[in-house]
Amino acid sequence: MKQILCALIAGVWVTPALASFHIVLDPGHGGVDKGAVYNSIREADLVLTVAQRLQTLLKEHPEFTITMTREKDRAITLPERVKMAEEANADLYVSLHANAALDQRAKGVEFFFQNNMPVDEDSLYLANQENQAILNARDIHTISGGDELSKKGDIAAIVEDMRRQNRMFSSLRLTKALTTIWENDENAMQATIKQAPFYVISKTSMPAVLIEIGFISNPREAKRLQQKDYQKDLAQKIYNALVSYKEKMDNSSAKNLN
Ligand SMILES: [Zn+2]
Repeated sequence: MKQILCALIAGVWVTPALASFHIVLDPGHGGVDKGAVYNSIREADLVLTVAQRLQTLLKEHPEFTITMTREKDRAITLPERVKMAEEANADLYVSLHANAALDQRAKGVEFFFQNNMPVDEDSLYLANQENQAILNARDIHTISGGDELSKKGDIAAIVEDMRRQNRMFSSLRLTKALTTIWENDENAMQATIKQAPFYVISKTSMPAVLIEIGFISNPREAKRLQQKDYQKDLAQKIYNALVSYKEKMDNSSAKNLN
């Protein structure tokens, strides 16, 4: 989070601008990469629609600054998405995807964050699917970035470790804010927190979460996900979770300052 700056101009105190909280919204896939395609839904189109609805809500909030990794149906690589977030020096990275499974009964919303815990097999499989664009890339050595950590001294490594812990804690906090919103609505899909090494949430240096908004391979969920009202509700829920997350973060930094 950036610090609030006060400025004294021509002897008059200018009301400090609200510290802007920069969120990068990342609708997965796009262009030639349609993502999962089931029940006449293309994942790339669906997540863009939900991201646009969410963007509209977030733009109304005076304390949020929003960057979309893509605003239309266009191809963008996973490293390009991460680069956008890094260059924007974003406070938070939110990637939107839709899930698919061979078992049509698979259902629910899933919130992924990056952790050090061992991952379960299903999550690993899904991360692998979502990372395909990277696995297929020819110039993989240019996007892996190398292990910079080995070149740094011990102190730098410790600082890096603390930063990583903080990032993990914040990401988990956001996934908890999301599940709380879902659990408080009895009509909502079941929501689960998971962790897996998705490229975009592994490579970004800020807190990051990847949301699988539902299974388009499940006929019942596919039907719901196509409804405008449901898409609106989804965007609203994510928005509410982001507001709640920011409030919690603001409260903790206020406590730390006192
Ligand atoms: Zn996806």
